[in-house]
This record gives sequence, C-alpha cells and structure tokens, in this order.
Amino acid sequence: MARLVMKFGGTSVANVERIRNVARHVKREIEAGHQVAVVVSAMSGKTNELVAWCRETAVLHDAREYDAIVASGEQVTSGLLAIALQEMGIPARSWQGWQLPISTDDAHGSARILDVNGEEIVRRFENGNEVAVIAGFQGINLPSGRITTLGRGGSDTSAVAVAAGIKADRCDIYTDVDGVYTTDPRIVPKARRLDKVAFEEMLEMASLGAKVLQVRSVELAMVHKVRTFVRSSFTDPDAPELRVNGDPPGTLICDEEEIVESEVVTGIAFARDEAQVSIRHVPDKPGIAAGVFVPLAEANINVDMIVQNISAEGFTDITFTVPTADFERAKAALADAQDSIGFKTIEGATDVVKISIIGIGMRSHAGVAAKAFKALSERGINIRAISTSEIKISVLIDAAYTELAVRTLHSVYGLDA
Ligand code: ADP
Ligand code: ASP
Ligand code: MG
Repeated sequence: MARLVMKFGGTSVANVERIRNVARHVKREIEAGHQVAVVVSAMSGKTNELVAWCRETAVLHDAREYDAIVASGEQVTSGLLAIALQEMGIPARSWQGWQLPISTDDAHGSARILDVNGEEIVRRFENGNEVAVIAGFQGINLPSGRITTLGRGGSDTSAVAVAAGIKADRCDIYTDVDGVYTTDPRIVPKARRLDKVAFEEMLEMASLGAKVLQVRSVELAMVHKVRTFVRSSFTDPDAPELRVNGDPPGTLICDEEEIVESEVVTGIAFARDEAQVSIRHVPDKPGIAAGVFVPLAEANINVDMIVQNISAEGFTDITFTVPTADFERAKAALADAQDSIGFKTIEGATDVVKISIIGIGMRSHAGVAAKAFKALSERGINIRAISTSEIKISVLIDAAYTELAVRTLHSVYGLDA
C-alpha cells in the first residue's frame, strides 16, 4: 500500500466525461490498494473567464474579492469529481482550501502556502479509505479569514504541498502531455520525453517558460523531497499495456544524483511575456546603473536580462527586460527619473521572446553558448540580449522567429527524437 497524491489539470477535467475518466484513473489506484488524495484544477478556460469578469467589473479591483471569485472554478470540479467517484462506489468527499485548511500568507493573487493540515484526510484514509478530492489553487489566510489563490498554474503547488503535508509516497501530476519533454511538444514535434529531470533543471525550465509545472511546485518538491511525476490523464486508465511497472509512463523530477547519464543540454524553454527596454545616450559614470535600476526596484518591477554597451565619448546605452505586464510602468518610472539619470531617449519592444537553453552538464562543458550563437546567426536571427547562469543561457530575439529558433537549437544540441 502507498499513499498518493494525484493532480489533474484543467484540460483533464474540462467536462463531465473527462471527469469520469479522471475518476477511473483514481479507481485504478484505489483498487491497487493505495490511499489517494486528489487535487483538481478548474475546467480549462474557466479561470480565464473568471479573471476577465473581475477586470470587466473594475480594472483596478479588490484583490481579496478577486481571489473569492477565481477560486470558485476549483470548487466546482472538486465536487463533481467526488460525485463521479461515489457513482463508481468509491467513498469520496470534496475539500476546499479553507476546510482542511491549506493556510497561506496574505499575498492575494499569488499567496504562498504556509501549512497544509492533512490530519482529517489521513484519519479518513484509515477509516474506510475515503478519497479526499481537494480544490487546487486556493487556500485561506487564517488571520484575516479570507480565501487566497496561489497564482496561475497554482494547482501544481497545491498538489506538492498536500503530498508533503500528508507524507505521501509520491505526487503524480496528470496533464495533457505524458511527461516533461526536451521542449514544448506543441512547438517541436521532434521533442523527446525525458525519463528523469533534475530539480535544478526543472526549476529553470519552469521559470523560463515551460508551463508544464508551476515554479513553486518544483521548489516545494525539492525542499520537501516529494517524488513528483508528470503523466498523461489522456491514456486509457484500464489498459495494462500502457503501463510501466504498473504505473502510466511519465517523467520523474528528482535529485541530480539519480540521473545516471545526462546530456550537456537537457531542454529548451521559451517565454513570450518579457519586454525589452533600452535607454540611449546615458552618461557613463559611477552610480549610473543604480540611477536606472533603483527607480524600477522601488516600483516593484523585476528586471531580468541586462546589457550595457561599451561607452563611446562618455555615453552608453543600457538594455534590459521586464515582464510585459510591467512594460508601461517601467517606461513611466524611467521617464520620471530622466533628469536625474540624464539619458536621451527610451525605446522599447514587446514583440520579443526569450529562448533559454538548460542543462546541468553546462557546468563542465565549454562552448555551449558559442554553438547557439553560431546556429542562430546562420539562420539570420539577431540576438538583442544575452544572459547566462551556471546551467542556462538565455537569448532575447524577435518573437517572429520563436519556432525557427527553438527548432534550430533543439536539433543543434542533439535533442531531436
Ligand atoms: P494543466 O492544465 O494540466 O496544468 P498546463 O497547460 O499548465 O496543463 O501544462 C501542460 C502544457 O505545458 C502542455 O500542454 C505543453 O504544451 C506545455 N509545455 C511547455 N513546455 C513543456 C515541456 N518541456 N514538456 C512538456 N510540456 C510542456
Ligand atoms: N485554475 C488555475 C489556473 O488556471 C490553477 C491551475 O490550473 O493550476 O491558473
Ligand atoms: Mg498547469
């Protein structure tokens, strides 16, 4: 007997028929003798609809009411799945975040989980093996008593936190792809499924645009040592031939040490939600970087890639990226500081994409970046900015070249299936 958390994303619970299919996946595990807590997302498209309703009612709205509204999508699917399981003769009940509770801080819209109280669901596992169907994405801030949500894609984080909270043997994240691939399989049909990905690599992939797992879920899995798999809910739950050692195929997110043979590059990710800002003709003197970036920090704007040109005649240009959602605010904050910084013009572009090459093997291999730059230049793709860390290289290019660049890099690093 094992204790499992099974998480099902929006497309997996998109309608009643798919919810029944999810119930069959849960039934398989119950029949194998396991204890199961399920975490569900809202039906696909539902959260977007709820967010749009908030914005339509008031562009600037109370973040606590936003959470009360957008948390409702998961309330519906958790109840529906409990009913579908009961219909199959499996004892089940739904749990909202506030009922367990899953307690969070008060950062409405992107709250962090502080604690998951799993005592009651564990008691019910031991008393009749009742399945706990938990609404993902939501929690409660106990001091204020208000419902909170965890940020888009947050049900992954709910699942890993519940797994840590009930000391589950593993957390299976079921989605519409059967694992983590070398890049988004919707963009590159030759993408390959990875058997295992190291936590550090998955963290980079998720934060650099691979939305298959929310970044915080990977952080939590790493800290609490939760064995987390990504699997597909679209396989036939009752087909034994579709299983590997009794389980559906998938990708394990694990410690680096568990990976025997690793390639230099593990994957390619891309993110379209960054914008480029360039300020031209800035006097090149000590304190100039602070002059530019302090006003942005004060406006709570995250700066990512930064390039400063070599100065000519005492002046330089500085280019950096900010989240597209903060683009206008960033330009406004800089315009306010124009006299004190002393630059001439601000330019910007939102039709850009950040492409990243990720792999822990880069720590010990030279020439990885050069290979990317050469391949992109051979396709006539201009690089606007570059940033690197120990295990990743990111380049900013025109969005029109996204697919070409991702496919090119995918084959250059030998990742094609
Ligand atoms: P869910 O609704 O189940 O949470 P998401 O849409 O959030 O699912 O995440 C799954 C999607 O992530 C896939 O459909 C795929 O297009 C995308 N994706 C991006 N990069 C990758 C990758 N490297 N491996 C697998 N899927 C990826
Ligand atoms: N329903 C939420 C969203 O769409 C949470 C999730 O699906 O993980 O962001
Ligand atoms: Mg998701």
